[in-house]
Amino acid sequence: MKQHYCPHCHLVYKSQVCPSCGTRGRLSTPDDLIFFIAADYFTSARVEDYLNEEEIPYLKKGELGVGLTSRIGLSFEYQRFFIPLKAFIDYEDQLNTLKEVIEKPES
Ligand SMILES: [Zn+2]
Repeated sequence: MKQHYCPHCHLVYKSQVCPSCGTRGRLSTPDDLIFFIAADYFTSARVEDYLNEEEIPYLKKGELGVGLTSRIGLSFEYQRFFIPLKAFIDYEDQLNTLKEVIEKPES
């Protein structure tokens, strides 16, 4: 099945244009990086541990919170995790489980 990839939004889709930004993407390849999750300083460590443990390949990009970091310091830093498309499909179950745990913390 042919899928397209949007390099701006880091997602794959089956329609002609990206459902998120409207860009006409190109055909996806197994190496395309798919946006997985954005995690804050504390949860990113858990995400990283899990991915390492399951030996799931990933790329991590640090981002700073909007305009607040100079006043508040680095506590608003968060990480965005990207998974190569092939691994994203291979490890779909594990990734979904992890996402559920991270985004719905027990309280
Ligand atoms: Zn897009």
